[in-house]
Amino acid sequence: MSESRQPNHESASPEGRPLRTAALLAVGSELTVGETRDTNSGDLARSLSRHGVEIAWIAALPDVETSVIDALSDALRTVDLVVTTGGLGPTPDDLTREAIAAAVEERPAVDPDLERWLRHLFDRRGIAFPETNLKQAWLVPSATAIPNERGTAPGWWIDRPDGRVVVALPGPPGEMRPMWEGWVLPRLTERGLGQERVTRTFRLAGIGESAVAALLGEPLLRAENPVVATYARADAVDVRISARMDGARSAAELFEAAAVVVLAAVGNLVWGHDDDTWPGVLGREMAALGWTAALVEAGTGGSTMRLLGDAAWLTSSRLLAPTEADAPIAGLADQARRASGATVGLAVRAAESGEDTFVEVAACGPWGARETRQTAFLSGSEGRRRAGIAAASFLNGILRDEQTAGGRSAR
Ligand code: ATP
Repeated sequence: MSESRQPNHESASPEGRPLRTAALLAVGSELTVGETRDTNSGDLARSLSRHGVEIAWIAALPDVETSVIDALSDALRTVDLVVTTGGLGPTPDDLTREAIAAAVEERPAVDPDLERWLRHLFDRRGIAFPETNLKQAWLVPSATAIPNERGTAPGWWIDRPDGRVVVALPGPPGEMRPMWEGWVLPRLTERGLGQERVTRTFRLAGIGESAVAALLGEPLLRAENPVVATYARADAVDVRISARMDGARSAAELFEAAAVVVLAAVGNLVWGHDDDTWPGVLGREMAALGWTAALVEAGTGGSTMRLLGDAAWLTSSRLLAPTEADAPIAGLADQARRASGATVGLAVRAAESGEDTFVEVAACGPWGARETRQTAFLSGSEGRRRAGIAAASFLNGILRDEQTAGGRSAR
Protein backbone atom coordinates (compact mmCIF):
# COMPACT_ATOMS: atom_id res chain seq x y z
CA MET A 1 0.00 0.00 0.00
CA SER A 2 2.09 2.83 -1.24
CA GLU A 3 -0.22 5.62 -0.04
CA SER A 4 0.03 4.29 3.52
CA ARG A 5 3.80 4.81 3.50
CA GLN A 6 3.67 8.56 3.24
CA PRO A 7 6.37 10.01 5.46
CA ASN A 8 4.17 12.81 6.77
CA HIS A 9 1.28 11.05 8.41
CA GLU A 10 -0.36 14.20 9.69
CA SER A 11 -1.34 15.04 6.12
CA ALA A 12 -2.38 11.51 5.15
CA SER A 13 -6.02 10.80 4.36
CA PRO A 14 -7.91 8.88 7.08
CA GLU A 15 -7.73 5.53 5.28
CA GLY A 16 -4.11 6.20 4.36
CA ARG A 17 -2.90 7.13 7.82
CA PRO A 18 0.05 4.85 8.54
CA LEU A 19 -0.19 3.14 11.90
CA ARG A 20 3.21 3.90 13.32
CA THR A 21 2.60 4.39 17.02
CA ALA A 22 0.43 2.43 19.41
CA ALA A 23 -0.81 2.41 22.98
CA LEU A 24 -1.79 -0.83 24.68
CA LEU A 25 -4.41 -0.79 27.44
CA ALA A 26 -4.95 -3.88 29.54
CA VAL A 27 -8.24 -3.55 31.39
CA GLY A 28 -9.08 -5.45 34.57
CA SER A 29 -8.74 -4.91 38.28
CA GLU A 30 -7.18 -8.37 38.60
CA LEU A 31 -4.19 -6.84 36.78
CA THR A 32 -3.90 -3.74 38.95
CA VAL A 33 -4.07 -5.70 42.21
CA GLY A 34 -1.41 -8.09 40.91
CA GLU A 35 -3.58 -11.22 40.80
CA THR A 36 -3.00 -11.66 37.06
CA ARG A 37 0.09 -10.73 35.09
CA ASP A 38 -0.52 -8.64 32.01
CA THR A 39 0.98 -10.97 29.42
CA ASN A 40 -1.37 -9.73 26.68
CA SER A 41 0.32 -6.35 26.34
CA GLY A 42 3.76 -7.97 26.18
CA ASP A 43 2.57 -10.30 23.40
CA LEU A 44 0.99 -7.44 21.48
CA ALA A 45 4.01 -5.18 22.00
CA ARG A 46 6.34 -7.85 20.63
CA SER A 47 4.12 -8.47 17.64
CA LEU A 48 3.69 -4.78 16.83
CA SER A 49 7.37 -3.97 17.38
CA ARG A 50 8.28 -6.68 14.89
CA HIS A 51 6.08 -4.85 12.43
CA GLY A 52 7.88 -1.59 13.03
CA VAL A 53 5.25 0.02 15.25
CA GLU A 54 6.56 2.11 18.11
CA ILE A 55 4.76 1.38 21.36
CA ALA A 56 4.29 4.78 22.96
CA TRP A 57 2.91 3.38 26.22
CA ILE A 58 1.37 0.37 27.92
CA ALA A 59 -1.08 0.72 30.80
CA ALA A 60 -2.91 -1.67 33.09
CA LEU A 61 -6.19 -0.16 34.25
CA PRO A 62 -8.73 -1.09 36.93
CA ASP A 63 -12.37 -1.81 36.11
CA VAL A 64 -13.22 1.85 36.61
CA GLU A 65 -15.00 3.37 33.65
CA THR A 66 -13.54 6.87 34.00
CA SER A 67 -9.98 5.49 34.13
CA VAL A 68 -10.52 3.57 30.93
CA ILE A 69 -12.22 6.52 29.20
CA ASP A 70 -9.36 8.85 30.22
CA ALA A 71 -6.71 6.45 28.96
CA LEU A 72 -8.57 5.92 25.69
CA SER A 73 -9.02 9.64 25.18
CA ASP A 74 -5.31 10.26 25.79
CA ALA A 75 -4.40 7.50 23.39
CA LEU A 76 -6.77 8.79 20.71
CA ARG A 77 -5.01 12.16 20.87
CA THR A 78 -1.47 10.86 20.75
CA VAL A 79 -1.08 7.54 18.90
CA ASP A 80 -2.27 5.98 15.65
CA LEU A 81 -3.46 2.66 17.06
CA VAL A 82 -5.02 1.75 20.41
CA VAL A 83 -5.42 -1.88 21.40
CA THR A 84 -7.34 -2.84 24.53
CA THR A 85 -7.55 -6.30 26.04
CA GLY A 86 -10.01 -7.45 28.68
CA GLY A 87 -13.29 -6.16 30.01
CA LEU A 88 -15.44 -7.60 27.22
CA GLY A 89 -17.27 -10.08 29.44
CA PRO A 90 -21.00 -9.97 30.24
CA THR A 91 -20.85 -8.66 33.80
CA PRO A 92 -21.29 -5.03 34.91
CA ASP A 93 -17.60 -4.74 35.82
CA ASP A 94 -16.70 -5.58 32.20
CA LEU A 95 -16.87 -2.05 30.90
CA THR A 96 -14.47 -1.72 28.00
CA ARG A 97 -17.33 -1.42 25.48
CA GLU A 98 -19.01 1.33 27.51
CA ALA A 99 -15.70 3.18 27.87
CA ILE A 100 -14.88 2.99 24.15
CA ALA A 101 -18.39 4.14 23.24
CA ALA A 102 -17.96 7.14 25.56
CA ALA A 103 -14.47 7.96 24.26
CA VAL A 104 -15.59 7.91 20.61
CA GLU A 105 -18.91 9.57 21.52
CA GLU A 106 -21.13 6.91 19.99
CA ARG A 107 -24.03 4.90 21.40
CA PRO A 108 -23.80 1.14 21.53
CA ALA A 109 -26.73 -0.94 20.25
CA VAL A 110 -27.40 -4.65 19.99
CA ASP A 111 -26.29 -5.96 16.60
CA PRO A 112 -28.88 -8.49 15.32
CA ASP A 113 -26.29 -10.77 13.68
CA LEU A 114 -24.17 -10.89 16.80
CA GLU A 115 -27.26 -11.52 18.93
CA ARG A 116 -28.26 -14.47 16.71
CA TRP A 117 -24.78 -15.90 16.89
CA LEU A 118 -24.60 -15.47 20.66
CA ARG A 119 -28.03 -17.03 21.31
CA HIS A 120 -27.11 -19.92 19.04
CA LEU A 121 -23.94 -20.58 21.12
CA PHE A 122 -26.09 -21.03 24.23
CA ASP A 123 -28.83 -23.04 22.41
CA ARG A 124 -26.20 -25.41 21.11
CA ARG A 125 -25.20 -26.26 24.66
CA GLY A 126 -28.81 -26.39 25.86
CA ILE A 127 -28.29 -23.45 28.23
CA ALA A 128 -30.86 -20.69 28.70
CA PHE A 129 -29.48 -17.41 27.36
CA PRO A 130 -28.63 -15.07 30.25
CA GLU A 131 -29.94 -11.66 29.16
CA THR A 132 -26.90 -10.03 30.80
CA ASN A 133 -24.86 -11.56 27.99
CA LEU A 134 -26.70 -9.43 25.45
CA LYS A 135 -24.14 -6.67 25.84
CA GLN A 136 -21.63 -8.98 24.19
CA ALA A 137 -23.73 -8.43 21.04
CA TRP A 138 -23.28 -4.63 21.24
CA LEU A 139 -21.62 -2.59 18.54
CA VAL A 140 -21.16 1.15 18.12
CA PRO A 141 -21.90 2.43 14.58
CA SER A 142 -18.22 2.77 13.64
CA ALA A 143 -17.28 -0.69 14.97
CA THR A 144 -16.91 -3.96 13.11
CA ALA A 145 -17.16 -7.15 15.17
CA ILE A 146 -14.03 -9.27 15.41
CA PRO A 147 -15.10 -12.93 15.47
CA ASN A 148 -14.13 -14.90 18.56
CA GLU A 149 -14.13 -18.63 17.84
CA ARG A 150 -13.15 -19.59 21.37
CA GLY A 151 -15.47 -17.53 23.54
CA THR A 152 -18.58 -15.41 23.78
CA ALA A 153 -16.84 -12.02 23.63
CA PRO A 154 -16.45 -10.69 20.08
CA GLY A 155 -13.87 -7.94 19.68
CA TRP A 156 -14.33 -4.50 18.16
CA TRP A 157 -12.45 -2.82 15.32
CA ILE A 158 -13.14 0.90 15.07
CA ASP A 159 -12.03 3.23 12.29
CA ARG A 160 -11.86 6.81 13.51
CA PRO A 161 -12.54 9.65 11.06
CA ASP A 162 -8.90 10.79 11.36
CA GLY A 163 -7.57 7.36 10.35
CA ARG A 164 -6.76 6.20 13.86
CA VAL A 165 -7.79 2.65 14.75
CA VAL A 166 -9.11 1.21 18.01
CA VAL A 167 -9.07 -2.55 18.51
CA ALA A 168 -10.71 -4.18 21.54
CA LEU A 169 -9.94 -7.81 22.29
CA PRO A 170 -11.04 -10.12 25.12
CA GLY A 171 -8.71 -10.76 28.07
CA PRO A 172 -8.15 -14.53 28.00
CA PRO A 173 -4.90 -15.01 26.06
CA GLY A 174 -6.30 -18.15 24.42
CA GLU A 175 -9.03 -16.00 22.83
CA MET A 176 -7.01 -12.82 22.32
CA ARG A 177 -4.05 -14.37 20.47
CA PRO A 178 -5.87 -16.17 17.64
CA MET A 179 -8.08 -13.10 17.09
CA TRP A 180 -4.98 -10.92 16.89
CA GLU A 181 -2.98 -13.24 14.63
CA GLY A 182 -5.83 -14.44 12.46
CA TRP A 183 -8.02 -11.35 12.06
CA VAL A 184 -6.55 -8.12 13.37
CA LEU A 185 -2.90 -8.28 12.31
CA PRO A 186 -3.57 -9.08 8.63
CA ARG A 187 -5.96 -6.09 8.43
CA LEU A 188 -3.55 -3.78 10.20
CA THR A 189 -0.76 -4.86 7.88
CA GLU A 190 -2.98 -4.14 4.91
CA ARG A 191 -3.67 -0.68 6.33
CA GLY A 192 0.03 0.10 6.50
CA LEU A 193 1.55 -0.96 9.76
CA GLY A 194 4.68 0.57 11.17
CA GLN A 195 7.63 1.82 9.24
CA GLU A 196 10.65 0.18 7.76
CA ARG A 197 12.60 -1.27 10.63
CA VAL A 198 15.42 -3.77 10.90
CA THR A 199 15.78 -5.56 14.20
CA ARG A 200 18.18 -8.29 15.17
CA THR A 201 19.23 -9.85 18.44
CA PHE A 202 22.68 -11.28 19.04
CA ARG A 203 22.73 -13.94 21.76
CA LEU A 204 25.91 -14.06 23.86
CA ALA A 205 27.41 -16.51 26.35
CA GLY A 206 30.38 -16.39 28.69
CA ILE A 207 29.89 -12.78 29.81
CA GLY A 208 27.63 -10.82 32.16
CA GLU A 209 25.25 -8.06 31.07
CA SER A 210 27.22 -5.28 32.75
CA ALA A 211 30.45 -6.38 31.06
CA VAL A 212 28.64 -6.36 27.71
CA ALA A 213 27.34 -2.87 28.44
CA ALA A 214 30.85 -1.69 29.33
CA LEU A 215 32.25 -3.11 26.07
CA LEU A 216 29.51 -1.48 23.99
CA GLY A 217 29.85 1.88 25.71
CA GLU A 218 27.29 4.42 26.82
CA PRO A 219 26.93 6.48 23.61
CA LEU A 220 25.85 3.39 21.66
CA LEU A 221 23.46 2.23 24.39
CA ARG A 222 21.89 5.66 24.73
CA ALA A 223 21.40 6.32 21.01
CA GLU A 224 17.78 6.63 19.87
CA ASN A 225 18.23 5.23 16.39
CA PRO A 226 19.39 2.56 16.12
CA VAL A 227 18.39 1.44 19.59
CA VAL A 228 21.01 -0.93 21.01
CA ALA A 229 19.92 -2.63 24.22
CA THR A 230 21.22 -5.45 26.42
CA TYR A 231 19.03 -7.98 28.22
CA ALA A 232 20.09 -10.61 30.78
CA ARG A 233 18.09 -13.74 29.92
CA ALA A 234 18.19 -17.18 31.54
CA ASP A 235 20.14 -18.69 28.64
CA ALA A 236 22.07 -15.71 27.26
CA VAL A 237 22.90 -12.05 27.41
CA ASP A 238 21.06 -10.58 24.44
CA VAL A 239 22.13 -7.52 22.49
CA ARG A 240 19.25 -6.22 20.41
CA ILE A 241 19.73 -3.70 17.63
CA SER A 242 16.65 -2.02 16.22
CA ALA A 243 17.00 0.55 13.46
CA ARG A 244 14.32 2.55 11.68
CA MET A 245 14.53 4.55 8.51
CA ASP A 246 15.81 8.07 9.11
CA GLY A 247 15.61 10.55 6.24
CA ALA A 248 17.89 9.37 3.48
CA ARG A 249 19.39 6.51 5.48
CA SER A 250 17.56 3.21 5.28
CA ALA A 251 16.90 1.08 8.34
CA ALA A 252 19.20 -1.60 6.90
CA GLU A 253 22.04 0.88 6.50
CA LEU A 254 21.68 2.18 10.06
CA PHE A 255 21.40 -1.35 11.39
CA GLU A 256 24.58 -2.44 9.59
CA ALA A 257 26.56 0.48 10.98
CA ALA A 258 25.57 -0.44 14.55
CA ALA A 259 26.06 -4.18 13.97
CA VAL A 260 29.66 -3.59 12.87
CA VAL A 261 30.40 -1.82 16.17
CA VAL A 262 28.58 -4.42 18.28
CA LEU A 263 30.26 -7.37 16.57
CA ALA A 264 33.70 -5.76 16.85
CA ALA A 265 33.15 -5.53 20.61
CA VAL A 266 31.42 -8.84 21.41
CA GLY A 267 31.20 -10.84 18.16
CA ASN A 268 33.42 -13.63 19.53
CA LEU A 269 30.78 -14.35 22.22
CA VAL A 270 27.78 -14.66 19.89
CA TRP A 271 26.25 -18.13 19.78
CA GLY A 272 22.88 -17.40 18.22
CA HIS A 273 20.44 -14.84 16.86
CA ASP A 274 16.85 -13.74 17.50
CA ASP A 275 14.78 -16.75 18.61
CA ASP A 276 17.70 -19.20 18.70
CA THR A 277 17.83 -21.56 21.66
CA TRP A 278 20.69 -23.81 22.80
CA PRO A 279 18.90 -27.02 21.71
CA GLY A 280 18.12 -25.40 18.36
CA VAL A 281 21.63 -24.11 17.69
CA LEU A 282 23.42 -27.27 18.86
CA GLY A 283 20.83 -29.37 17.02
CA ARG A 284 21.64 -27.58 13.75
CA GLU A 285 25.39 -28.14 14.23
CA MET A 286 24.93 -31.78 15.19
CA ALA A 287 22.57 -32.42 12.28
CA ALA A 288 25.00 -30.80 9.83
CA LEU A 289 27.76 -33.10 11.09
CA GLY A 290 25.41 -36.10 11.41
CA TRP A 291 26.56 -36.68 14.98
CA THR A 292 24.98 -37.86 18.25
CA ALA A 293 26.05 -37.11 21.83
CA ALA A 294 26.01 -38.67 25.28
CA LEU A 295 25.96 -36.44 28.34
CA VAL A 296 27.07 -37.06 31.92
CA GLU A 297 26.91 -34.38 34.56
CA ALA A 298 27.53 -34.13 38.28
CA GLY A 299 26.91 -31.36 40.79
CA THR A 300 24.74 -29.50 38.27
CA GLY A 301 21.33 -30.70 39.44
CA GLY A 302 20.74 -31.78 35.82
CA SER A 303 20.92 -28.21 34.47
CA THR A 304 22.65 -29.26 31.22
CA MET A 305 20.02 -31.89 30.56
CA ARG A 306 17.26 -29.36 31.20
CA LEU A 307 18.89 -26.79 28.96
CA LEU A 308 19.24 -29.22 26.05
CA GLY A 309 15.76 -30.70 26.49
CA ASP A 310 14.75 -33.81 24.63
CA ALA A 311 17.05 -33.18 21.67
CA ALA A 312 17.01 -36.16 19.27
CA TRP A 313 20.80 -36.05 18.90
CA LEU A 314 21.27 -36.49 22.66
CA THR A 315 21.08 -40.25 22.78
CA SER A 316 21.81 -40.61 26.49
CA SER A 317 22.08 -38.34 29.50
CA ARG A 318 22.91 -39.18 33.08
CA LEU A 319 23.16 -37.26 36.29
CA LEU A 320 25.95 -38.84 38.33
CA ALA A 321 26.28 -38.90 42.10
CA PRO A 322 29.47 -37.16 43.29
CA THR A 323 31.05 -40.54 44.15
CA GLU A 324 30.49 -41.79 40.60
CA ALA A 325 32.02 -38.65 39.15
CA ASP A 326 35.32 -38.75 41.03
CA ALA A 327 37.55 -39.15 37.95
CA PRO A 328 39.34 -36.87 35.47
CA ILE A 329 36.66 -34.97 33.54
CA ALA A 330 37.93 -36.07 30.11
CA GLY A 331 37.77 -39.69 31.31
CA LEU A 332 34.09 -39.24 32.20
CA ALA A 333 33.35 -37.83 28.75
CA ASP A 334 35.16 -40.68 27.06
CA GLN A 335 33.39 -43.25 29.19
CA ALA A 336 29.96 -41.77 28.33
CA ARG A 337 30.81 -41.82 24.66
CA ARG A 338 32.01 -45.42 24.66
CA ALA A 339 29.12 -46.70 26.78
CA SER A 340 26.50 -45.17 24.52
CA GLY A 341 28.14 -45.49 21.11
CA ALA A 342 27.48 -41.77 20.47
CA THR A 343 29.83 -39.67 18.33
CA VAL A 344 30.46 -37.18 21.13
CA GLY A 345 30.84 -37.62 24.88
CA LEU A 346 30.14 -34.50 27.00
CA ALA A 347 30.92 -34.38 30.72
CA VAL A 348 30.12 -31.50 33.08
CA ARG A 349 31.05 -31.27 36.75
CA ALA A 350 30.15 -28.36 38.99
CA ALA A 351 31.10 -27.64 42.58
CA GLU A 352 30.43 -24.62 44.71
CA SER A 353 33.50 -22.54 45.31
CA GLY A 354 32.81 -19.85 47.87
CA GLU A 355 30.11 -17.62 46.42
CA ASP A 356 30.70 -18.92 42.91
CA THR A 357 30.69 -22.26 41.11
CA PHE A 358 33.71 -24.07 39.72
CA VAL A 359 32.81 -25.78 36.44
CA GLU A 360 34.74 -28.41 34.50
CA VAL A 361 33.62 -29.47 31.05
CA ALA A 362 35.14 -32.03 28.70
CA ALA A 363 34.04 -33.12 25.26
CA CYS A 364 35.56 -36.01 23.35
CA GLY A 365 34.81 -37.01 19.82
CA PRO A 366 36.39 -37.37 16.42
CA TRP A 367 38.68 -34.42 17.27
CA GLY A 368 40.08 -36.17 20.34
CA ALA A 369 39.41 -34.67 23.77
CA ARG A 370 39.12 -31.06 24.84
CA GLU A 371 38.36 -29.66 28.25
CA THR A 372 37.87 -26.34 30.01
CA ARG A 373 37.72 -25.08 33.56
CA GLN A 374 35.99 -21.89 34.57
CA THR A 375 34.36 -20.11 37.46
CA ALA A 376 30.68 -19.41 36.93
CA PHE A 377 29.24 -16.36 38.65
CA LEU A 378 27.22 -17.17 41.81
CA SER A 379 26.63 -20.42 43.66
CA GLY A 380 23.48 -22.48 44.32
CA SER A 381 20.95 -22.99 41.57
CA GLU A 382 22.13 -19.88 39.67
CA GLY A 383 25.67 -21.26 39.53
CA ARG A 384 24.39 -24.70 38.50
CA ARG A 385 22.30 -23.15 35.76
CA ARG A 386 25.34 -21.31 34.46
CA ALA A 387 27.33 -24.57 34.50
CA GLY A 388 24.82 -25.98 31.99
CA ILE A 389 25.26 -22.94 29.77
CA ALA A 390 29.06 -23.25 30.02
CA ALA A 391 28.79 -26.85 28.82
CA ALA A 392 26.49 -25.97 25.91
CA SER A 393 28.72 -23.08 24.95
CA PHE A 394 31.90 -25.20 25.08
CA LEU A 395 30.34 -27.92 22.91
CA ASN A 396 29.08 -25.30 20.48
CA GLY A 397 32.58 -23.85 20.07
CA ILE A 398 33.98 -27.29 19.25
CA LEU A 399 31.20 -28.08 16.79
CA ARG A 400 31.79 -24.80 14.99
CA ASP A 401 35.50 -25.52 14.76
CA GLU A 402 34.68 -28.94 13.35
CA GLN A 403 32.26 -27.46 10.82
CA THR A 404 34.93 -24.97 9.76
CA ALA A 405 37.43 -27.80 9.47
CA GLY A 406 34.91 -29.53 7.19
CA GLY A 407 33.91 -32.15 9.74
CA ARG A 408 35.78 -35.39 10.22
CA SER A 409 34.70 -38.92 9.55
CA ALA A 410 32.44 -39.82 12.47
CA ARG A 411 34.22 -42.05 15.00
P1 ATP B 1 -14.38 -13.05 28.99
O1 ATP B 1 -15.76 -12.68 28.63
O2 ATP B 1 -13.93 -14.28 28.24
O3 ATP B 1 -14.13 -13.10 30.48
P2 ATP B 1 -13.05 -10.49 29.04
O4 ATP B 1 -12.58 -9.64 27.93
O5 ATP B 1 -14.11 -9.95 29.93
O6 ATP B 1 -13.43 -11.89 28.40
P3 ATP B 1 -11.53 -10.42 31.43
O7 ATP B 1 -12.75 -10.76 32.26
O8 ATP B 1 -11.03 -9.03 31.47
O9 ATP B 1 -11.79 -10.82 29.92
O10 ATP B 1 -10.40 -11.42 31.75
C1 ATP B 1 -10.65 -12.80 31.76
C2 ATP B 1 -9.40 -13.55 32.13
O11 ATP B 1 -8.43 -13.36 31.09
C3 ATP B 1 -8.69 -13.04 33.36
O12 ATP B 1 -9.19 -13.59 34.54
C4 ATP B 1 -7.26 -13.46 33.11
O13 ATP B 1 -7.09 -14.83 33.42
C5 ATP B 1 -7.14 -13.27 31.63
N1 ATP B 1 -6.58 -11.97 31.31
C6 ATP B 1 -7.25 -10.80 31.24
N2 ATP B 1 -6.43 -9.79 30.90
C7 ATP B 1 -5.21 -10.32 30.77
C8 ATP B 1 -3.92 -9.80 30.43
N3 ATP B 1 -3.77 -8.49 30.15
N4 ATP B 1 -2.89 -10.64 30.38
C9 ATP B 1 -3.06 -11.94 30.65
N5 ATP B 1 -4.23 -12.51 30.97
C10 ATP B 1 -5.30 -11.72 31.04
